[in-house]
Amino acid sequence: MIYLDNNATTMPSARCRDAMIQAIDELWHNPSSMYRAGQAAKRAVELGRASIAKLINGQPKELVFCGCGTCSIHTAMNGAVVTHREVEHPNIITTQIEHPAVRYLSKQVGERMGVETRWLPATKGGRIDASALAKTIDENTILVSVQWANNETGVIHPIAELGRICREKGVTFHVDGVQWVGKMPTNVGTGNATELGPANDDDAGQWIDMLSFAAHKFHGPKGIGVLWIRKGTKFAPSSPGTQELGRRGGTENVPGILGMAAASEEAFEFLSDPSKMKNMAAHRDWFERRVLELVPGAVVNAPADPKHRVWNTTNIAFPRLEAEVLLLMLSERGVCASAGSACSSGSLEPSPVLLAMGIPPELAHGSVRFSICRDTDPGCLEEAAQTVAACVKQLSGAIPV
Ligand code: PLP
Repeated sequence: MIYLDNNATTMPSARCRDAMIQAIDELWHNPSSMYRAGQAAKRAVELGRASIAKLINGQPKELVFCGCGTCSIHTAMNGAVVTHREVEHPNIITTQIEHPAVRYLSKQVGERMGVETRWLPATKGGRIDASALAKTIDENTILVSVQWANNETGVIHPIAELGRICREKGVTFHVDGVQWVGKMPTNVGTGNATELGPANDDDAGQWIDMLSFAAHKFHGPKGIGVLWIRKGTKFAPSSPGTQELGRRGGTENVPGILGMAAASEEAFEFLSDPSKMKNMAAHRDWFERRVLELVPGAVVNAPADPKHRVWNTTNIAFPRLEAEVLLLMLSERGVCASAGSACSSGSLEPSPVLLAMGIPPELAHGSVRFSICRDTDPGCLEEAAQTVAACVKQLSGAIPV
């Protein structure tokens, strides 16, 4: 199998697996229990928290463990709505190209909780334009939520510029970092990073108030995510309890936390050497060029500037093809990839993200996402490109959209 769907999830690393097994065998007591075994589990959770905080250069106490990326996003957004109940006609601002975790909740917040949702458009290259935010934000805005990197295209948004606007207006800025953290250097700037470690190219992290991320996108386990909340940010828990300093109730997922901690340490090591990321970007670029060479008419859905792309993702449109059919055929031949399309009630809808980027429906219908990881064997990419080309050739003309 050639696995090119790492934006969906990644394979847990051996270190992650070992840490989780050890936690299941030896640290299964409740971290809130007074006796020694419970306190040992608590100590392990706190050590794990410190490793995860180091990945983003944050303070351990600013981390709130959540069930997954979606859960972290919902904790942030629901928390903002609860916090700002005094605002009479509140609005939140998000974008048309968010992951469903943000999109669906933003709609629901509007419909059920009487909060207006304002949707920022994307440019042709799939980025959010900061000037659109400047025009949309007002005194009733209680939250701005924007993804750091897009899950379908790998496009990176101007987080520093967006965050600066929010800070000037005194509006909480939440960032969905699920496709960013662990893959790209992150520095929220509240930690004590003295050693040479991850640092942003720009100072984006400094402008973020709340950051969501999930372990399973960087070789950690599923079912564990984090909401990082900058000290001093107004936040009301939507799931109150005694754990997590009162910000989220529920017994801690000790194996999940320790698996995430192990994955964070490995991600930190990977990110500390920028040549590793550059190397993987070169493999992604090579694969992309090879597919374009082998499949006439194929186009990459991406911004022109390579600085605006995460190193692991490419989204390629195959004109006049239905992506789902291509994906099934690829799967039969051992290549795993995915489409941004959703199949709802029997009708195949093109990806709203690609449509919002201005990609015509006939191209959006035939767009496929390929995402590598730091462990992808470059040697398999020629075979993957050849398989894609063979499948497209076989399907071309046979199945009209
Ligand atoms: N946000 C983005 C950008 C994602 O890509 C994903 C998952 O693919 C999520 C949020 C949701 O994360 P989870 O699947 O851990 O709930």
